[in-house]
Amino acid sequence: MHLGNPIGSVMKAWVNFLSQFVVMNMYLVLKEDSMQHSVIWKEYDFIVVGGGSGGGVISSRLAEIEDFTVLLLETGSVEPVTSTIPWFHTLLPGKIAQRSSLDWKYVTVPQKDLLFAYDNQVSRWPRGKLIGGTSAINTMLYMRGNRKDYDRWAAEGNDGWAYEDVLHYFKKSECQDDPILAEDTYHHGTEGPLHVQNPRFGTKITKSFLQAGEYLGYDVVDPNGYQQTGFSRFQTTMKTGVRWSTARAYVRPAIHRRNFHVSLKSHVHRVLFDENNRAIGVTFVREGKIHNVYCRKEIIVSGGTVGSPQLLLLSGVGPAEHLQQLQIPVIADLPVGKNLQDHMGAFGLSWTVKKGSAYSLLPLFNPLTLQEYKNHHTGPFAGTVGVEANAFLHSRYSNKSEDWPDLQLFFISATPAIDGGGSFKDYFGVSQETWDVFYKPIQFKQGFSIVPVLLRPFSKGYLKLRSTNPYDKPIIQPNYLSDRRDFDILMDGLKHAVEIGNSPPFKKHKAKIHLGKLPRCPHVLPGSEEYWVCFIRHHATTEHHIAGTCKMGPPHDPQAVVDPRLRVYGVTGLRVVDGSIMPHVVSANTNAPIIMIGEKAADMIKDDWLMGWKSEDETTFLDTHNSNGKVLINENDNHNVYSGDQNEIF
Ligand SMILES: Cc1cc2nc3c(=O)[nH]c(=O)nc-3n(C[C@H](O)[C@H](O)[C@H](O)COP(=O)(O)OP(=O)(O)OC[C@H]3O[C@@H](n4cnc5c(N)ncnc54)[C@H](O)[C@@H]3O)c2cc1C
Repeated sequence: MHLGNPIGSVMKAWVNFLSQFVVMNMYLVLKEDSMQHSVIWKEYDFIVVGGGSGGGVISSRLAEIEDFTVLLLETGSVEPVTSTIPWFHTLLPGKIAQRSSLDWKYVTVPQKDLLFAYDNQVSRWPRGKLIGGTSAINTMLYMRGNRKDYDRWAAEGNDGWAYEDVLHYFKKSECQDDPILAEDTYHHGTEGPLHVQNPRFGTKITKSFLQAGEYLGYDVVDPNGYQQTGFSRFQTTMKTGVRWSTARAYVRPAIHRRNFHVSLKSHVHRVLFDENNRAIGVTFVREGKIHNVYCRKEIIVSGGTVGSPQLLLLSGVGPAEHLQQLQIPVIADLPVGKNLQDHMGAFGLSWTVKKGSAYSLLPLFNPLTLQEYKNHHTGPFAGTVGVEANAFLHSRYSNKSEDWPDLQLFFISATPAIDGGGSFKDYFGVSQETWDVFYKPIQFKQGFSIVPVLLRPFSKGYLKLRSTNPYDKPIIQPNYLSDRRDFDILMDGLKHAVEIGNSPPFKKHKAKIHLGKLPRCPHVLPGSEEYWVCFIRHHATTEHHIAGTCKMGPPHDPQAVVDPRLRVYGVTGLRVVDGSIMPHVVSANTNAPIIMIGEKAADMIKDDWLMGWKSEDETTFLDTHNSNGKVLINENDNHNVYSGDQNEIF
């Protein structure tokens, strides 16, 4: 009889226990929270659909103007306390999401000759369904992308989006916590609502990763500063060891404003148009009841790269042919849902190391660890479970003379098998066969993993409605690696990763590469060219940076859905503000860039509606919350100009 690994079983039981604990805790918190407004008026100046990275920013920034009334409608509810504790981030989209309503649980269609390691050859796409959106479940890594990403947007006719234009908005959002980086005032801001800090927990093997970079001739850099190419430790969107989502940074501090209402558990089904194709309101469902709410100025759709195109299509804004097939009356014939892009990462490339070198789950068994987090917000619960550093590098196909790398290599001081299939397996939907053949031989062992990520994909996909039912998930076809160049770049990324992991700085940890068996290629020689080709065909999947489905572009761009001021073409009173507007996905993680988009859009809208308004005139967030992020309610703030003279719908 096979008794298994008893320590491993205990670890697995513990991870299961923690995820149960989180689910329980989530429901407790949901009951107690009081973010939602009980009164909703019939009409607002602005209605924002979706309270995620983009929507959280735009709604609260618009509400800074006392003369504007703003309604934020969000399908999800409030953040569970556990979403604020960094350690739980791997469980949020994985174990927990599958048992809870925190995640939209999107999946792609099966990918031909790819994703062999995952159930049904599909890629799971978690997306936050809660206030803060995906910023409330993500890994919290703070990255901005490359100067040339934005210069390319501008060069293609998107005036106002060059790096020198958007840098102001990155800085405006940022509260940089690292005193040395904060000295670089050209690149960093210290007064914004989004706290950015060095994680309070890490492992010593990460130093070897940085040393490997130096050994191979690279610099250790601030990738959000003067030079992106090189190695660096991650900075995170946290404040004193607590996740700083857009709910925390933007929505909560603004919630006391009398001109700002938030309606949670409110799923928007449709944008309403008048006979002149002006967006005049939305239909949404809350607590099983259908409501219409109207706007005097604009509707802003911030449902994310899947949610925004889905809502536009349901409302008659999209490719005429597709809409006609579903008998949806066409309001504007636009390429909504096309231009879908994602960063693909080749997961699974791992090394085992000697005990004590890398991330360990053992401290989590010690009750004092939880106590430490509770009392000081330090220790393993304040860390990102080994996601600690990265490198931006050039593949052999990119121009090394310019600082615009096409690969990002994530360094994780644990292997995906460390918890015996407790979280990673669920998170990505690794098949049992792959688990048994590839991962099981290293389960529970200490090690590290390097994930090469393709930063500027040539392959593009699309998204379509499955039906006219707003609760049906769209059909998502990313067309991963359909352009051969993407495959070649990712292959080169794997070679860089192998070179780094096998380099001398890791020798002292007794690093040994794991060339596990690939179920669909049982006969390839481990480490051969064929092995790496097959490795990509098995393991490459989403890195969660989906973008582009409501592309921003000038009027002559046939793929454009919104103009450079983010107004939807062919209609009036409607904008899109989230990751879907990116013409090309930026060369890094996408949360901070989308927050920047929200900041910039808020200024453009204020500009359009307020005569003579300049961004310096506005009230800043620091007026309304103190440096601890606590809301300061001004006792003399009696400008309740709206109460009583608005029609209420609840
Ligand atoms: C697991 C994971 C890890 C990640 N890690 C990082 C990271 O470490 N760093 C980083 O920079 N990026 C990371 N990302 C990516 C980044 O978080 C997202 O790109 C970003 O948050 C998306 O912002 P958004 O505004 O476009 O959409 P979202 O933040 O997803 O917001 C959309 C919001 O709209 C709501 N909504 C949708 N449809 C409707 C509707 N019809 N009615 C009402 N509400 C609706 C949704 O519930 C959601 O709240 C990660 C993503 C994932 C999934």
